[in-house]
Amino acid sequence: MTGTPVRLDLSSPSRGPRGKPPKHFVDLTPEQRIDAVTELGEKPFRAKQLATHYFTHLTNDPAQMTDLPKATRDKLVEGLFPQLLTAHRTQTADKGTTVKTLWHLFDGAKVESVLMRYANRTTLCVSSQAGCGLACSFCATGQLGLTRNLSTAEIVEQVRAAARSLADGEVPGGPTRLSNVVFMGMGEPLANYKSVMETVRRLVAPAPDGLGMSARNVTVSTVGMVPAMDRLAKEGIPVTLALSLHAPDDELRSELVPVNTRWSVDEAIDSAHRYFEVTGRRVSIEYALIRDINDHAWRADLLGEKLNARGRGWVHCNPIPLNPTPGSKWTASDPRVEQEFVARLRAHGIPTTIRDTRGSEIDGACGQLAAEEDE
Ligand code: SAH
Repeated sequence: MTGTPVRLDLSSPSRGPRGKPPKHFVDLTPEQRIDAVTELGEKPFRAKQLATHYFTHLTNDPAQMTDLPKATRDKLVEGLFPQLLTAHRTQTADKGTTVKTLWHLFDGAKVESVLMRYANRTTLCVSSQAGCGLACSFCATGQLGLTRNLSTAEIVEQVRAAARSLADGEVPGGPTRLSNVVFMGMGEPLANYKSVMETVRRLVAPAPDGLGMSARNVTVSTVGMVPAMDRLAKEGIPVTLALSLHAPDDELRSELVPVNTRWSVDEAIDSAHRYFEVTGRRVSIEYALIRDINDHAWRADLLGEKLNARGRGWVHCNPIPLNPTPGSKWTASDPRVEQEFVARLRAHGIPTTIRDTRGSEIDGACGQLAAEEDE
């Protein structure tokens, strides 16, 4: 079965139909890649060579594809590897080990990704949408509104660029591999389900059809879109699921995370628990601690009780001090209040770790990604 032949419009390789990003090699299944290569008049085995260059050597540069005749590689790259992302600006922090990149997309939409190198792992925080439609009140991207969904290749390209930069030794500490990807950049990944899932498949597929990452090192973070969470559980790819809860009661959560009026706290926690039951993967609960808003001891207790009501050992909590967005009336919790919140959760037997805020001085930390305004 070779699938539907892919028609490539070679007359305008930099534009896709109806404002969609142009189709890219990475958007295609391995069968479709063979069809696409054949349509360009080349032998089917070229598809595997291209996949090896892209996913193993992390390159889309024809000059590096020296096992293909020059004319062949130029034609294939021009037809199948349109430039989707242009690095417009990079900013670094933490002695160069945190790198934020602002990307311009083919249609002028803008997204950011953040690469963080730690002692024993490297994590890339990717964007899945330009902007976001969910309007969480404390989140910088939430204030922008949604521009559009990213395509699979637009997301995978963020990952390839980071992996390549690490392999090239551009981040201090010597050449290394990218070990983790978190969908915690701009956008709600489960609102762009198809492209995000296809991205996950490319990340975990073994070489040469993918990057060969471990599913557990891929984290999909969601506001709690229950039907999509349940669907994710059944995909058979046990990625780590993070639920951005931020409040254990509906009254407050509906203010912080407006989509809570559609799927309540209990419904979101139930779905997270089902995710654990189906996949065996422990779920993360994200909780931005906002001074005097959601950081009360009784809320820690209520959260602990609600999580324990579903079972033990299925969840851990990641409180994070709020990273205030510009002009925000809110600020991070007092450190003593934060410690008390953590202690209460632990007293309920919930493993709890404060999440770090790497890159906050370059607005690269959690919830701070908001692409530059137009000049
Ligand atoms: N839409 C997804 C993923 C993007 S945000 C989600 O909501 O999960 C990634 C994480 O950063 C989420 O847990 C989000 O709630 C959190 N976040 C957003 N704004 C923040 C801020 N100002 N301070 C701290 N965390 C924030």
